[in-house]
This record gives sequence, structure tokens and C-alpha cells, in this order.
Amino acid sequence: MDSPWPTSSTRFAGVIGWPVGHSLSPRMHNAAFRALGLDWAYLAFPIDPDHVVQAVRGLFRVGCSGLNVTIPHKQAVIECCSAVTPAVEAIGAANTLIPDGDGGMTGDNTDAEGFLRALDESAPIDLDGAEVLLIGAGGAAKAVAFALKGRGARLRVANRSEEKCAALGEPVAFTREAMEQAASTAVLVVNATSLGMGSDAVPADLPLDALGPGSVAYDLVYRAGRTPWLAAAAANGARTVDGLGMLLHQGAAAFRQWTGVEPPLDAMRAGLAAPAG
Ligand code: NAP
Repeated sequence: MDSPWPTSSTRFAGVIGWPVGHSLSPRMHNAAFRALGLDWAYLAFPIDPDHVVQAVRGLFRVGCSGLNVTIPHKQAVIECCSAVTPAVEAIGAANTLIPDGDGGMTGDNTDAEGFLRALDESAPIDLDGAEVLLIGAGGAAKAVAFALKGRGARLRVANRSEEKCAALGEPVAFTREAMEQAASTAVLVVNATSLGMGSDAVPADLPLDALGPGSVAYDLVYRAGRTPWLAAAAANGARTVDGLGMLLHQGAAAFRQWTGVEPPLDAMRAGLAAPAG
């Protein structure tokens, strides 16, 4: 008979969000713990916005060894942190909380690192001085802008609420025509909006005609296989990067900080690809 599990010494980490049932992080991190034989478990905690600070402090009080944070809590959790990394200061949001061993917790943002690692893995490009079109100006777009500026890219930004663009780069009108024009001179076009989530159609608002050989299309929206926008860009000859790679690498960066162990990327990738069950 298998020994009972979890035990009183099993460590736990997790993700907080509202809602959080759709999160792929439990599959990814539990696959990593199993691959390394670590006596850890990763859970999803639905926490409503009125109780987030209380809940995070409570989870760490009962021994939580690390948290990921997703929509809509990435700003609110900063209040719980005894220290934050320069990435959190610049982006204004934390997606990873690490206990400091002294009753406090450090807030980090691994989305920026995850974004760059996935780009380097799937479509490496020299970003220094290069023009990039960033579509979106929400929380994920802020992390992407921080990452790209760190590599010396020149950012042009289009967003439905156009007043949010200027803080991130040179504004571009949120019209198909203006975005096609900006995409035609960009080496990289990033969709950091939620356009395309849960749809099998190419979002009419995203540029496509200007994407071809020589350009890279990067979609933060993730799903099994390419999104319709990425598939259409690939059909035009563009190189593509999907959101699963960013999800993998932001998770790996969190895992490394919680466990002090190098994350098993192949097992995490397989965990993401496994059917939900
Ligand atoms: P957010 O802060 O809520 O921002 C949403 C963004 O999408 C804003 O720019 C918003 O524009 C835009 N948007 C929403 N609906 C739109 C519509 N109908 N037409 C045009 N623009 C629209 O969310 P977020 O955290 O930045 O997440 C954005 C996307 O990135 C989501 O799909 C999320 O799943 C994905 N993401 C992926 C990863 C990964 O690891 N792959 C990590 C983080 C996020 P307004 O400003 O005008 O509202």
C-alpha cells in the first residue's frame, strides 16, 4: 500500500486569484515537485478582493512556502510585502511572494523574466535599439514594457484606452491601420491584451498583414497550440512565440526562489500540456 500523503511535513505553495479555477499553475508546479521527488504540494486558492491581504498573511502564518498571484490581486499584495524587488517597483505589481524566513515576505515579478526567456528560446532577436509594437497597457503589458526597455528596445504602444499608452512608450492609435503601419517597421509585435482569449477567430483589431518573414509575433494569450492570431502570422511567414512559454518561465523563476532548486523545465512543460483532469 502507498504511504499516506500529504503528511504533517509536506510543504505547500499555491496561486491566489479571483477566479482561479482556470489556472494551469497547479499542473505545472505539481509536475515539477513530482519530477524532483520533493514533498511539496501546489494548490489554487480563490480569494475575493476584499480579503486578499488578510488571506495572504494567514497563508504565510500557517507555513505557506510560496505564492503566485494572478488577476486581480497583483497590486493589492504589495501591501503584504516586507520587501519588493526592483521589477515590482518598476511594474507596480507582484506575481510571486517568497517567505523571507523572518515572518515577512518578498514580492517579485517574474512575468518580465518569463517573457524574455520564452522569446530567447523560441525566436531570439537583438532588441537593442530595435522597434517593438506593444499592444495593450494592462498589468502584463507593464511587465513586458519593463523587460523590453531593459534590453534597449524602442517601444510603440497601442491600447483601447489610449490614455494609458504614454506611460509605456510612444503612443500609436488603436486602429487597425495605425497598428499595421507600426507593425511594418517593428521587429517584434506583442499582443498583451486579452483579445483572442476563448475565441477561434483571429481578433479583427490585431495587425496581421504587416507581419511576415523578418517579424516576430508574440501572443501572451495562452492555450494548447497556437492562438488563431499566431497561426495566421505564421502562415504569413512570421516567427511566433506563444504565451505558454512565458507562463512556463515565469513559473520556473518562482519555483527556483521558493525551493532553491533548479526547476525541471521538461516536466513543467509536460504538466502544462497534460489534459485537465
Ligand atoms: P489586464 O491588466 O486586465 O489588462 C487587459 C488588457 O487587455 C488591457 O490592455 C485592455 O485594454 C485590453 N483589452 C481587454 N479587452 C479588450 C477588448 N475587447 N478590446 C481591446 N483591448 C482589450 O490583464 P493582464 O494581466 O494585462 O492580462 C492580459 C492578457 O495577458 C490576458 O490574456 C492574460 O491571460 C495574459 N497573460 C499571460 C501571461 C503568460 O504568462 N502568458 C502572463 C500574464 C498575462 P483597456 O486598458 O482598454 O481595458
